[in-house]
Amino acid sequence: MKKKTKVGIPRALAYYTFYPLWRTFLEKLGAEVIISKQTNRKVLEDGIKETVNDACIPIKVYHGHAFDLVGKVDYLFMPRMISADGLATFCPKFLGLPDMVRYTGVTLPRVIDVRYNRSGFPGGLLRFFIQVSRAIEVRNPFKIAYAAASALVVQKKYQNLLLQGMKPPQAIDSVLGGKSPGSDKTGSAKAGSAPANPNKVSVALLGYPYAIYDPYISAGVYSKLDSLNVNVITYEQIPLRHMRRFSRIMPQNFFWYYSNQVCWAGMYLLENKELIDGIIHVTAFGCGPDAMVDKTLELEAKHSAVPFLSLTIDEHTGEGGVQTRLEAFVDMLAAKKAKTKAG
Ligand code: SF4
Repeated sequence: MKKKTKVGIPRALAYYTFYPLWRTFLEKLGAEVIISKQTNRKVLEDGIKETVNDACIPIKVYHGHAFDLVGKVDYLFMPRMISADGLATFCPKFLGLPDMVRYTGVTLPRVIDVRYNRSGFPGGLLRFFIQVSRAIEVRNPFKIAYAAASALVVQKKYQNLLLQGMKPPQAIDSVLGGKSPGSDKTGSAKAGSAPANPNKVSVALLGYPYAIYDPYISAGVYSKLDSLNVNVITYEQIPLRHMRRFSRIMPQNFFWYYSNQVCWAGMYLLENKELIDGIIHVTAFGCGPDAMVDKTLELEAKHSAVPFLSLTIDEHTGEGGVQTRLEAFVDMLAAKKAKTKAG
């Protein structure tokens, strides 16, 4: 029997947004997909050794994940992420990522670095599918079309689960592992509707998915909020049509895809203040786009009199410090909520 081609996907950056699409497509083409292990100290340190000092922690971690796959796969899947919506691009570090990883001192397997660019849809995405197929030497157009259609269906299901408040790891298990969607809900409030329990504190946890959902680099911020019995709302829970409205209202949109998502979500929630008691913005130290996103959110929150906490993460972030800051912030929000109810 012919051995399956092994393709490795680093568990970092755009993984949290596109993994179901990529994995389904590659598997339907006949490849075996392997993902890197969960982020840990070694993955981070391996990444730090090979990246420039001023890179943000998500980029350092991405390098560590890519290196984790060396020796285990025939191909490393590192698409050049250009644009996911045809409006904005990914940040410059995403654009240069395949080159950054390739020019480290580490010998890599063959790299699939085709452009992911939805501009000119459906042509953009079609191009992506065809080029990935060619990279692993699949040329049968029927097989490619079937794989692409299947991948798009799975990706849509994944996005719907995120919209319902499921976290990416559980939503990934659900759409790729066949688990029941009902069993893994976070219990968080669904944005766009009133919080499930009005007595619970509701917090908008804003930030890039690869910072929020990687428990190692975020020092477990999401699960800490869960354990503090907080309703958590992330940008994935807000329908795109609600967020997109702010692209027309804001005097200037950002150039970067994830920055716009985070900012539009913040604006939407500030316009619908009854949904949240406060905002936590998780930002990576050394992130250029976040210098603007963080300030914009902070000023908008101040203008709307909504408490705002900026949580900066880097490789030295400690669990204890994050826990203390979260507890203090949530206590303050709970006291404010109780006072407002009483008065
Ligand atoms: S947007 Fe910021 S955190 Fe994300 S990769 Fe770019 S510099 Fe790093």
